Amino acid sequence: MGSFIPTTRTQGKGNAAYGWLDQSLETLHRAHWYRQVSTVEGRAGSTVRLEGRILLNFASNDYLGLAGDPRLAEAAIAAIQTDGTGSTGSRLLSGHRQIHRELEQAIAQLKGTDDAVVFSSGYLANIGTISALLGPQDGILADQYNHASLKQGAAVSGATVVNYAHGNMVDLKTQLQTRRGAYRRCLIVTDSVFSMDGDLAPLPQILDLADEFEAMVMVDEAHGTGVLGATGAGGVEHLGCTGRPLIHMGTLSKALGSLGGYVAGSAALIDFLRNRAPSWIYTTGLSPGDAAAAKAAIEIVQAEPERRQRLQTNAEYLRQRLDAWLADACLDNDGHPFNLKRLPSDSPIVCLQVQNAATVLQLGQRLREQDIFASAVRPPTVPTSRLRLTVMATHDQAQLDRLVAALKGD
Ligand SMILES: *Cc1c(COP(=O)(O)O)cnc(C)c1O
Repeated sequence: MGSFIPTTRTQGKGNAAYGWLDQSLETLHRAHWYRQVSTVEGRAGSTVRLEGRILLNFASNDYLGLAGDPRLAEAAIAAIQTDGTGSTGSRLLSGHRQIHRELEQAIAQLKGTDDAVVFSSGYLANIGTISALLGPQDGILADQYNHASLKQGAAVSGATVVNYAHGNMVDLKTQLQTRRGAYRRCLIVTDSVFSMDGDLAPLPQILDLADEFEAMVMVDEAHGTGVLGATGAGGVEHLGCTGRPLIHMGTLSKALGSLGGYVAGSAALIDFLRNRAPSWIYTTGLSPGDAAAAKAAIEIVQAEPERRQRLQTNAEYLRQRLDAWLADACLDNDGHPFNLKRLPSDSPIVCLQVQNAATVLQLGQRLREQDIFASAVRPPTVPTSRLRLTVMATHDQAQLDRLVAALKGD
C-alpha cells in the first residue's frame, strides 16, 4: 500500500476506451485512497492469522465468535448434504426450501414480529426494501451517518432524500414539520447501532415522531442483532421498542456468523416485499448451507445469553481502560500528544478519534507492529479519522490489556 504508482497496463494494447481505468487507479494511489485485501488464513476468532502472522483481532464483526463455531459448521454441512450447495433458482420460481422458511420463522420469533424474509445479503435487503416501499412521490429522512447500503437504497428508490443531523431529534422534527406534507409516503431510516461510531439511535423518540407525522420507520440492526437486548433481538429490544410498528432489517453475516440479510415486520409488509422487492425476486435464494448456519446461530443466541453478557463486560472493560489511559497524555512517535478522543459508544464498537488521516495510520501501524489487527478508518468512509476497535465475546482480559498497552506504546 501507499506510494506505489502502477505503470500503465492497457494503453496501446487494443481498445483505448479502457485507458481511463489506469488513470483512475493512478489517481487513487496518489491520493493514498487505494485499497486492497489482506488474506486471512483459517478460522478467525479473537486472534487471526494474517499473511503468516497471528494477530490479536479487533477488526471483526463476529461479535459472539460464532463464525468459527463447530455447531454452525455442522448445521451448514448437514444442509448441504440434504439440499446441495446451491438453491438453484429464485425463491418464487424453484429456489425455495424448507430451511428458508424455518430460518424466517426463527428470525420473526427472535424479533417478536409476524414474519420475516431473508435476502442474499444485508446490502441487498436494504436496496430491495427501500426501493420497493418508496418512489418519486415519497420522502426519506435519513440519519447522516447511516450505512452506505441504506444510502444506496434511498438513491435507487427515486424518493426525495433528506439527511438529518446525526441522532438529532430537533432536526428530524423540523424536517418532518416542513417537508412531510409534500410527500405521499414518508420513511425515517436509521442504523440502530452506528457501524463506524458505536453509538445508538434514539429509537423511542424516532418512533414517537413517526406516529405524530404518519411516517414509516426502518431500523438497520446489522450491529445490534445478537449483541443487544435481553434476548439478543437487538437495539430495538434494548431500547424498549419491541412490538412497536416498524421495519426491522439486519444481517446474518455479523454476530450470526453466516451470510445473508433479513427484513422482519408485519405480515402485510413481508408479503408485499415478497411481491415487490427486486433484489429478492430476481436473485437466487440464499444457499441452504448459509441458511442453516444462520438458523443454528439464532438458536445459540437465544440459548447462551452468557456470550452476550461476556461481550458487554468486555466492551465496558475496554472503554474504562481506554478512558483511564486517555487521562494520561498519550504521545505520538515524536513525543507530541495524539489528542485522541474516545467517541461515545453503547456497543462493542469502540472508536478513538484522531486529528487526521496521518495520525490514524501511525496508530494503526503501531498496533500492527505489535501484532494487533484494528481498522484505521479515514474520510471519505467517515467524517473524521478514527481507529475502530471491535470487541468480541471471546476476547479475554489479558488480550484487552495487551491492546491498551500497545496503543500506549509500552
Ligand atoms: C454490514 C452492514 C450492512 C450490510 O450487510 P451485509 O450482510 O454485509 O451485506 C448493512 N447495514 C449495516 C449498518 C452494516 O454494518
